[in-house]
Amino acid sequence: MLDDKKVPVPGSFAEGAHVTAEEYEERYARSIADPEAFWAEEGKRLDWIEPYTRVKNCNFDLGSVSINWFEDGILNVAANCVDRHLETRGEQTAIIWEPDEPGDAARHITYNELHEQVCRFANVLKSQGVAKGDRVIIYLPMIPEAAYAMLACARIGAVHSVVFAGFSPDALANRINDCGAKAVITADSAPRGGKRTGLKSNTDAALLHCSDKVRCLVVKHTGDQTTWIDGRDVDVLSMMEDVAPDCDPEPMGAEDPLFILYTSGSTGKPKGVVHSSGGYLVYCAMTHELVFDYHAGDVYWCTADVGWVTGHSYILYGPLANGATTLMFEGVPTYPDAGRFWAICEKHDVAQFYTAPTAIRALMGHGREPVERYDLSSLKVLGTVGEPINPEAWNWYNEVVGKGERPIVDTWWQTETGGHLLTPLPGATPLKPGSATRPFFGIEPIVLDPQSGAEIEETECEGVLCIKASWPGQMRTVWGDHERFEKTYFSDYKGYYFSGDGCRRDADGYYWITGRVDDVINVSGHRMGTAEVESALVAHRDVAEAAVVGYPHDIKGQGIYAYVTLMNGVEPTDDLRAELEKWVRTEIGPIAKPDLLQWAPGLPKTRSGKIMRRILRKIAEDDAGSLGDTSTLADPDVVDDLVENRMNRK
Ligand code: ATP
Ligand code: MG
Repeated sequence: MLDDKKVPVPGSFAEGAHVTAEEYEERYARSIADPEAFWAEEGKRLDWIEPYTRVKNCNFDLGSVSINWFEDGILNVAANCVDRHLETRGEQTAIIWEPDEPGDAARHITYNELHEQVCRFANVLKSQGVAKGDRVIIYLPMIPEAAYAMLACARIGAVHSVVFAGFSPDALANRINDCGAKAVITADSAPRGGKRTGLKSNTDAALLHCSDKVRCLVVKHTGDQTTWIDGRDVDVLSMMEDVAPDCDPEPMGAEDPLFILYTSGSTGKPKGVVHSSGGYLVYCAMTHELVFDYHAGDVYWCTADVGWVTGHSYILYGPLANGATTLMFEGVPTYPDAGRFWAICEKHDVAQFYTAPTAIRALMGHGREPVERYDLSSLKVLGTVGEPINPEAWNWYNEVVGKGERPIVDTWWQTETGGHLLTPLPGATPLKPGSATRPFFGIEPIVLDPQSGAEIEETECEGVLCIKASWPGQMRTVWGDHERFEKTYFSDYKGYYFSGDGCRRDADGYYWITGRVDDVINVSGHRMGTAEVESALVAHRDVAEAAVVGYPHDIKGQGIYAYVTLMNGVEPTDDLRAELEKWVRTEIGPIAKPDLLQWAPGLPKTRSGKIMRRILRKIAEDDAGSLGDTSTLADPDVVDDLVENRMNRK
């Protein structure tokens, strides 16, 4: 049932694009044949204080995994994202900030202004004793100060770790303690969708569980009242006025850590992913330019939060390294109504728009009208990230938002990979709805047999997705636990980077992510990715969202357990249940028919919008007593309802 039809590159598009189809083939071949030469050249995208002479020094052997790129080069990431643009585009807007309330004024921050704000912020950090190598937690709303704070850390060589502003005090405390942070940067409160979260009070609660040496730097954003502890709490904005507007960038080794970011936790306890300075920035600058086909003057918008990797690589570091204008949005897609995304695209003439399938599905539920209210003619490229996009949502995105004329880049990557690994290039790659298509330059995906671990040579195949050799954006270690790094990514399949995802490769060499390897279900000996069954369910007009997991089944080995969220206003009935079961049978085959189907008012999701199947699996196994780490759930209440109404009771 997977749609194998190819959508060609729009005719007008290929001409002006950075990469055409022929160029892709030629350059890709070169990047694999001679990575040293290829990346030596790409490294020149950045300004180096001391140029590198060594390009690649990487080892994937269990027990001695080590990853180094441009290792003797010296640079500063903030200087690359800000200072080097001042001469040519100091008065160009670097960041457009769109506030939660549509009635409040947007802000346009030029590169000159960004430079001054970052320097001032850096001087505030220094005044609090933060120095090169220290860790700083950033727990801020989507406000320009979040960008200033990240770049200020990079400027002085401190390692930042951004914690999503929706996380609880517990989750915050765990991260402060795990990385031994010297300071937390927070705000009084965070407006989102017309509601406010008290970030300072959350931080106060978290700090009760941390060393009392941790400094608390507060951005007074809303003016909401907060408690104040003299000697610990610092008013950042007022201090920024008092410190010098200039701060020399710290010379950093290419391999010095730039940041730690905890994964979303959909498969287990979050891992503190460590990224480098040089290789990371080369990789996200390059992917940002080519994957979104970014050209000078374009307004680029990634709707992610800076609390996850997409926000790091594709709101901040990639775009700013390229001297782009990047948009930062404080709010949510449905406030004040489901037209907000499109209102912003129209208002700021957005050219590249990058979001997640979960947002697209949520907006689909509101129909076409909120999209058609706005002029979206400025759009050139659309993007998605985060999970496989079901063809239903792809078609809606393509037709309703893109008017059938904009390439959609479905980018597969992970916190661990730093940037896109599998992705179309808009001027080069014919698309297939639901496929992340082909590898980016320098990426050698391989498919392994999950049982034997052997590489599958045939083009058409299905198995475990691994990457054969390192690329500059790859994570370097798990913070404080290199052994966990090796064990998680290099022990199951020796000599390769193991992504944890399953995939199918079709006859054209296109990759289709089938979900986490853990999520593959084995029904009467047939292996099936959960994504396929979910896609089929979501294709039914009454279904808004679906999640599928396996559960122990006496006869089949594993049974299929489906959680289904219906469209607004649709009543769950037994007739509908029977209809959906029949629907899946005809869409995929009798083998895929759900054994149990539970109506779910909502699904447990991470803050980045990913369904937490490991929790659904526990509920389906009737083992709700051991749900594991739930600290990164967006809405823990939905779990209670699902447990209460579970279908499989022993
Ligand atoms: P944890 O590793 O803690 O379980 P996580 O894997 O959810 O968390 P991320 O690094 O944010 O955290 O997510 C990466 C995963 O998201 C990928 O491994 C893949 O399963 C999924 N993913 C991302 N983009 C795509 C895409 N375009 N198509 C299919 N799947 C995607
Ligand atoms: Mg993961």
